[in-house]
Amino acid sequence: MSKRLRDKAVKIDLLLEELYGVPQPGKNVNVLDELILTLLSHNTNDINRDKGYAELRKHYPTWEVVRKTPRKKIENAIRIAGLAPAKSGYIKDTLDFISDNWGKLDLNWICKKDPQWVEDTFTQVKGIGVKTINVVLSFACNADRFPVDTHINRICARLGLVPENSPPEKTYKLMADIFPKGKAFSFHINIITHGRKTCKARNPLCAECNLKKHCSYYKKIKLSTSQ
Ligand code: SF4
Repeated sequence: MSKRLRDKAVKIDLLLEELYGVPQPGKNVNVLDELILTLLSHNTNDINRDKGYAELRKHYPTWEVVRKTPRKKIENAIRIAGLAPAKSGYIKDTLDFISDNWGKLDLNWICKKDPQWVEDTFTQVKGIGVKTINVVLSFACNADRFPVDTHINRICARLGLVPENSPPEKTYKLMADIFPKGKAFSFHINIITHGRKTCKARNPLCAECNLKKHCSYYKKIKLSTSQ
């Protein structure tokens, strides 16, 4: 079963690479910056996330200053990113967690740690979920981790890589065994791109999709329209 799904994922990955290339993670990404940026990205778009992050850095240029600033002021600075009361708390809790445990507000060292240890350790902080920490591991540390958000979840389910109603947490566990090894970052980014361009949440553009040969959802709708 898993081998069949792994082979299918490899074929899908190659088709996506033909369409969108092989995206590479950034170089010398500051891990703590990436973590705060990812916390700001919850339930918003990239533009408002980036605006919220820029405002935060403009008013409070170091993480130590952010940590010592009253939460309400942080909330005001990041308001455009949405869910500001919750996110300001997550940011403060994260900075306190790092400061209390390791002193210095720097996380670049986690890239040298076992990713599973990093996941287990940082998901103890309110607001840092499995998806968030694996985005950081993948994007900032180039770890071969495949984070699953609602978009990735939808497309993996439609493709038949995971069961139809699999929740993101379960999909994350299943996909850990299925995604092409060494390709987590590019596979993740290309699936996100495919979701934006073709496999949209509503009205996926199946007729023009290069993946339809491998897609369970497409086979199902084709079957239902031919009956
Ligand atoms: S065939 Fe349709 S459902 Fe399947 S991946 Fe393509 S757009 Fe998505």
